[in-house]
Amino acid sequence: MLTLKSKLPQVGTTIFSVMSGLANEVSAINLSQGFPDFETNTEMIELVNQAMKKGFNQYAPMLGVQVLREAIAEKTEFLYQAKCNPDTEITILSGASEAIFDALACVVNQGDEVIILEPAYDLYLPTITLFGGKVVPISLDENYQIPFDTLKNAINANTKALIINTPHNPTGIILKAKDLQQLENLLENTNIILISDEVYEHIIFDGQTHESVMKYPKLRERSFVISSFGKTYHTTGWKLGYCIAPDFLTKELRKIHQFNTFSTNTPMQYAMAEFLKNKHHYLDLPNFYEERRDKFRKMLAETPFKMLPCEGTYFQLASYEHLSQEKDTDYTIRLTKEAKVATIPISVFYHNQTDRKVIRFCFAKKYETLEKGIENLIKFKDKLYR
Ligand code: GLN
Repeated sequence: MLTLKSKLPQVGTTIFSVMSGLANEVSAINLSQGFPDFETNTEMIELVNQAMKKGFNQYAPMLGVQVLREAIAEKTEFLYQAKCNPDTEITILSGASEAIFDALACVVNQGDEVIILEPAYDLYLPTITLFGGKVVPISLDENYQIPFDTLKNAINANTKALIINTPHNPTGIILKAKDLQQLENLLENTNIILISDEVYEHIIFDGQTHESVMKYPKLRERSFVISSFGKTYHTTGWKLGYCIAPDFLTKELRKIHQFNTFSTNTPMQYAMAEFLKNKHHYLDLPNFYEERRDKFRKMLAETPFKMLPCEGTYFQLASYEHLSQEKDTDYTIRLTKEAKVATIPISVFYHNQTDRKVIRFCFAKKYETLEKGIENLIKFKDKLYR
């Protein structure tokens, strides 16, 4: 019989597929996987159609279409006062997922240590492992802040890279200027590459500003800065993202990208370049989601859950420690089946399944969906306790 030795024996199916699958199966309101259930801007759909009709249907250039790279350079200068060269520093990729994968592929050699901060987005750990790297997990503190002393102690001669994510999935916490300054000091005089996952850069609340690595020249010179159009333009299914990195890193990234996907779909790149010209499309996003966050928090306050702070992203964490001692993975499955609301357990984002009895709700949904979800939690309130 044919067999295959798994390269990732510990890895199962990603929690996002598992919970969305279960939500569909039992007809629960799906507040688990992070994707909007409202419509994409019709103007953008029209722009994609126009690009297709204009004949932009063949391979895009490997590094991405020129007009989109130029639009990103312009936006980055406008937002973060950082100039970048669209030809040598910006690459369009098939989502932030591909960007992170390619960045790790070109950085990690056998035995290299890569530090991740847990809870960590579920793509990081298996990808580091796949390339023979050693994952060095550091737990964020009880308020999900970076424990800088622990981080400092974890750095040694084998440390090849550090991954950060702000605004942070799943916690909704953002890094502040003082965090970036500390990182700058910590990494100075090291050979450590920084991978900065900034896919929620425009989903940030309470008048705070996104502290992009692009604003910190000393960090920027050692970083892959990654973003995704999926989050900003309600188009997660288009799988369009990009990476900004200095020349020497971009060169290596593209060596992987060209043999991974080669290039990313053409008409959507043209459409996005056009759409980006109107700054309101991203400048209005904090208000758009802040209103949803506030309404959702108000609704969630009617349930027995205890909410944690939410400074950015479209995720709201809630503790159920006072309701049940079940494992969060069991709790979310039971909640989906019995209270008809699907959420994400946070322990899956820890290498050792640290279970703080916290679950994640996605509020990138129509008010109608959020209301139905809360209605179910109230209707089946008994099921929240065990
Ligand atoms: N990033 C999304 C989330 O956190 C899911 C993306 C995916 O399913 N791969 O929910």
